[in-house]
Amino acid sequence: MTVGARVLLTLACLAGAGRTAWAQQPAADLDPQVVRLVGEVSEQRLGALLKKLESFGTRNTMSTADSPTRGIGAARQWIFDELQHYSPRLEVSFDTYRIAKQGRITRDVEARNVMAVLRGRSLRRVYVSGHYDSVAIAGGQSERNGGNTQPVTFADPDSTAPGVNDDGSGVALTMELARVFAQSGIEFDATLVFMCHVAEEQGLMGAKLHAQKAKAEHVQIDAVLNNDIVGNDRGGNGIVDSGSVRVYSEGPEDSPSRELARYIQRWGMRYVPSHGVRLLSRPDRFSRSGDHTAYNQYGFAAVGFRESRENFSRQHDPRDTLEGVSVPYLAQNARVNAAVAAMIALAPQAPVVVTEKGQPTINRASGYDAHLQWQPSPGASSYRVFWREAWGPDWQHEMAVGNTTEVTLPNTLIDDLVFGVAAVDAVGHESVVTPYIAPRSTAVDDRDVKIVPADAR
Ligand SMILES: [Zn+2]
Repeated sequence: MTVGARVLLTLACLAGAGRTAWAQQPAADLDPQVVRLVGEVSEQRLGALLKKLESFGTRNTMSTADSPTRGIGAARQWIFDELQHYSPRLEVSFDTYRIAKQGRITRDVEARNVMAVLRGRSLRRVYVSGHYDSVAIAGGQSERNGGNTQPVTFADPDSTAPGVNDDGSGVALTMELARVFAQSGIEFDATLVFMCHVAEEQGLMGAKLHAQKAKAEHVQIDAVLNNDIVGNDRGGNGIVDSGSVRVYSEGPEDSPSRELARYIQRWGMRYVPSHGVRLLSRPDRFSRSGDHTAYNQYGFAAVGFRESRENFSRQHDPRDTLEGVSVPYLAQNARVNAAVAAMIALAPQAPVVVTEKGQPTINRASGYDAHLQWQPSPGASSYRVFWREAWGPDWQHEMAVGNTTEVTLPNTLIDDLVFGVAAVDAVGHESVVTPYIAPRSTAVDDRDVKIVPADAR
């Protein structure tokens, strides 16, 4: 491990420098090129994308692939062509699989994710995603959520399933960000992937096949921002919330997905202060799932964006039309995604805080001090240390420590606090925080406790 200048902080310095995380940063801390990029998100374009997606009548994975205007084939070709004409910088392709008849797949079917890649300086990837397939079920989702536990009856795949919110909203957001990022002229460190998945409604199959392949090919996916049902702010119960978005992430509390979620709240709300980010410490809503979970299953950090309030009566139903979506609300969610994806892609890679054997590089210097080490991240010019009480969800304190890979915090018990470190480049782009995780022994200690034989007592 390369170790830079050793930093020992006095208690006075520690007390003064630590500040509560999430405090609103002065505007000067924001990168003007990211501010501009976020400002490029267009409500008018999002509205036009939704209208076009609705026009295919259905985008069911098993609907007709032969019609030029209706069904999955027409939809995927239009998404492909639209992405391609945004910019020559976007490499657009079909990510194609042959899925055999099984479960909700009622016949062998060709499934194509549509992906647009914006190459960065490095191979590490940041994904923004949605699913372009739609579905209709008997009674719609409101009957399911109302307590019907009978097996789901799916409508004919060619029957109407406009899927404007589920998940035309996530797809329009993904496509609009592909345009905005590719046309921004910004050179990113990470490679951005704008991914429109298919076969989500049959069991996250498009996402699963892609994640499986990425894992097998050792592709480094640092973050997946999955957007599914992000266009409506009016609950079916009449409660309206146009000022926030929900972000679901799987645990445990310092999993890569949880760190990504914290980062989304921190940077999303700095660039879009008019929109709240509500973090939820669970993989998804009760008994429901989305494509981010498929990435989690292959070990990638991935979270699910969900609208603030849902109207179940329009989901998985012919009533999932443009009237059930608020384009200004969708645009706010797109801006949060844009800010976060840009910041992760501009920032250095998050620091590595374990040895080659996986041991966390944190210890109790002189018994009562916290001593933290990390490996240098390429492109970093300084680092920021974070900590919080070991019973609490959000980072409570942060401190810039300069260009070093080691720090000692006097009289700071590593047993009572959680620590993490982020890499920062010369202009302030900050990586996701890498936490120090206490090693957990999962092996059962099955060594027998020796008992003195009765006749020897
Ligand atoms: Zn969906």
